Amino acid sequence: MALDLLVRDGLLVDGTGAPARPADVGVAGDRIVAVGDLSAVDASQVPAVVDAVGLVVAPGFVDPHGHSDGTVLVDGALASHLLQGYTTQLSGNCGDTLAPVTARSREHVGIALAEVGLEPGWRTFAEYLDAVEAVSLGPNVAFLCGHNTLRSAVLGTSHAPPAPDESAAMARHLEEALDAGAAGLSTGLIYPPGIHARPDEVAALVRVAARRGALYASHIRNESAGLFAALDEALDAARAAGEGARLQVSHLKAADSAVHGRAAEAVRLLGSAREAGLDVSADQYPYAAAATALHTVLPPWLLAVPVDETARALRDRAVRERVRREIASGLPGWEDAAADPGWDGLVLTSSPTRPDLAGRSLSEIADEAGRDPLDVACDLLADDGLTTQMTIHCMVEADVEAIMAVPWISVCTDAGGRRPGHPVLDAGLPHPRAYGSAPRVLGRYVRERRTLPLETAISKLTSVPAERLGLPGRGVVREGAFADLVVLDPATVDDRATYARPAVPPAGIGTVVVNGTIAVRGGAETGARPGRLLRRA
Ligand SMILES: [Zn+2]
Repeated sequence: MALDLLVRDGLLVDGTGAPARPADVGVAGDRIVAVGDLSAVDASQVPAVVDAVGLVVAPGFVDPHGHSDGTVLVDGALASHLLQGYTTQLSGNCGDTLAPVTARSREHVGIALAEVGLEPGWRTFAEYLDAVEAVSLGPNVAFLCGHNTLRSAVLGTSHAPPAPDESAAMARHLEEALDAGAAGLSTGLIYPPGIHARPDEVAALVRVAARRGALYASHIRNESAGLFAALDEALDAARAAGEGARLQVSHLKAADSAVHGRAAEAVRLLGSAREAGLDVSADQYPYAAAATALHTVLPPWLLAVPVDETARALRDRAVRERVRREIASGLPGWEDAAADPGWDGLVLTSSPTRPDLAGRSLSEIADEAGRDPLDVACDLLADDGLTTQMTIHCMVEADVEAIMAVPWISVCTDAGGRRPGHPVLDAGLPHPRAYGSAPRVLGRYVRERRTLPLETAISKLTSVPAERLGLPGRGVVREGAFADLVVLDPATVDDRATYARPAVPPAGIGTVVVNGTIAVRGGAETGARPGRLLRRA
């Protein structure tokens, strides 16, 4: 048997959830061609041999919820993810994608791209995917098409519901993206302009995705006090779409003191929909803090205008007074982190105009300046053109673990590819999930806390998300599958990225193989770029 790569004497955890067993893995080209006792193979004739004595051999990890839409064009290696063992990542989540670009969505897409120093050189989703395909890729990548971008392509920043011809135009853009190979549709219903969309607008697009059997991944309208109503909205859209509907609830969490302790109830709600035959699942990042744009502390009406108008309004005292009142009183359906967890729990991660403030809470910054936190936030948002980012310390560990223990819920990073020391890709102090998600599950939750068995954790990192993405031949180690592999040390694997020092690769992830080529050896990049753009068949 002619092999290009032999991984020998490891403990195989094949991704299916089956018990670990000793096995060698033989690779030829981009495929696994033999699994089992390969001691008869003359290793001296195999170009690459990885000795895995005492180590676990697993399928490459699949990230079902990433945000590398822009960063992949800056550096296709996605080093932060590759070094964790990720061999495939799905981006285009939370409603924001970089196509389609029309005269109306140019600003929306332009702001996202400006953060990585780029301008759009494409218009359609097909042209965007071609731009990605021209990059040398570390892991494999795939993309959803985002509702916020679809909406802004047709309606701009308007908060009005679409007229019938506008609905049809959004559906056409989505069909074009799906035909070009987009994996499905995503929504981000706490962000503008999606925050202005009524449930029927979203449901119409979910029907378009369902007709092609494509995924619908939703950052639901409310993960806080309105969690259960928002889950119902997502489930209703999937049920109404009928045959072919596939729902993925993004980064499932209980993000507010009003719902703390109720994560298991959320899991049960999704579980009973599954039992009733709905194709629904979820993903989770393994941390008790979220991360998002600081502008989510603003009420929706303030986000219904172009960015420079919002920035101007934020300087107006009367506007600030209204915002202050609305944060105190709340608005129906609006999820507001300034009210819960409150300014103490909001920590700046990046501000283009005040990079020195990264790592500090809004309360701290305000106290030191003798000012009100809302005024500090409004100034920063106005100066930064609304691009300021934060972490939100909003969950409790018991809820994180309740979701972690569920075998059918995937692990995700909710992060774009980054690189330590890079002028663009190491800006600010991002959420540590960018560097630590997979090893944190295996170190903290499997080895230390015993929240779940290793085999279950590995399947949540591999076959479970691969099935959601519709990737046959990935997420599992068996003959004929793609040779995406991770070799890790179960005794030492751990995240080392912290909120204070996030850009630190993990411990214990030694070897990463993508499409048969070694991309990480001894915990460091080899420089190989074997990844591919994966288009939905
Ligand atoms: Zn999201």
